[in-house]
Amino acid sequence: MIFSIDVEDWSQSVLNTSNPVTNRVYDNTVRLIDILEEHNHKATFFTLGNVAQKHPELIRRISDAGHEVASHGFNHQSIFNLTPKQVEEDITTSVKLLEDASGEKVIGFRAPNFSIREYLFEWYCEALAKNGLKYDSSLFPMKVIKYGIEREYSLKIFNKYSINEHYLSYVKIGKYKLPFFGGGYFRLSPYAITKLLSKNLDSRRAVFYMHPYETDYGELEAVKKAYGKIPLKWRLTQFAGRNSVEKKLHKLMDDFEFTSFKQEFYSNDSISTPRSTLSNIDEDITDIATTDKTDMTTKILYS
Ligand SMILES: [Zn+2]
Repeated sequence: MIFSIDVEDWSQSVLNTSNPVTNRVYDNTVRLIDILEEHNHKATFFTLGNVAQKHPELIRRISDAGHEVASHGFNHQSIFNLTPKQVEEDITTSVKLLEDASGEKVIGFRAPNFSIREYLFEWYCEALAKNGLKYDSSLFPMKVIKYGIEREYSLKIFNKYSINEHYLSYVKIGKYKLPFFGGGYFRLSPYAITKLLSKNLDSRRAVFYMHPYETDYGELEAVKKAYGKIPLKWRLTQFAGRNSVEKKLHKLMDDFEFTSFKQEFYSNDSISTPRSTLSNIDEDITDIATTDKTDMTTKILYS
């Protein structure tokens, strides 16, 4: 399974993108590096360019520990709010900062807020390809309140630009696809539920995601002090359950094997098979040989 972390500072990336990056992102990310080390797992760190700018030594530390450094854009602007030119510049700037700090080539990207829609595919993929990127992990194949794509899309535009899509994992209950493997879903669910549902995922392609701040239960008081009252909606969706995350992570890492996208799919001896549609039910939630799927052209529509 893939362990992915979106490295960003909460008060800058979520509260207000014009806020400065704080030191909390440094300490929170180091905490995750230590937990991964303890369990001997690797991960992909999709990191904001502004974090690399403020804490270049953190990027080096991620890379020196054997993890993959990938890009999460420069300062967490949703892709659909930017022009094609701005997106290309945003990716170029962040990739350069991350490569300079890590000394490693960046090959992967995750859009802030999973902000990719079908009408953006063409120029978004073009911008990724122009920056020498090989894969994307931004599609959320189910509709939730703020983001996600409900119906099935062909990934032929991704394949045209040789960008492999590694979308986020889900569980299928009846005709509905539901997210559970990371973020607030992991934070707010009892671990037994996560464990039960994870057993049905493809052991190679499943993608877990989280943010370093989700282990930081002291942050609410700090942001209240710096920025005033935090709306109830955010206290519930962004801060609830943070004190349970570290304990749950230890259990998750005991129960499953994790690695980075780079190590699993893009190292010398690994095989990466492009997908043709967004979410292939059979492939995602059962453990079958992925190499048989190269000619899969089925386009499924869910109503
Ligand atoms: Zn993010």
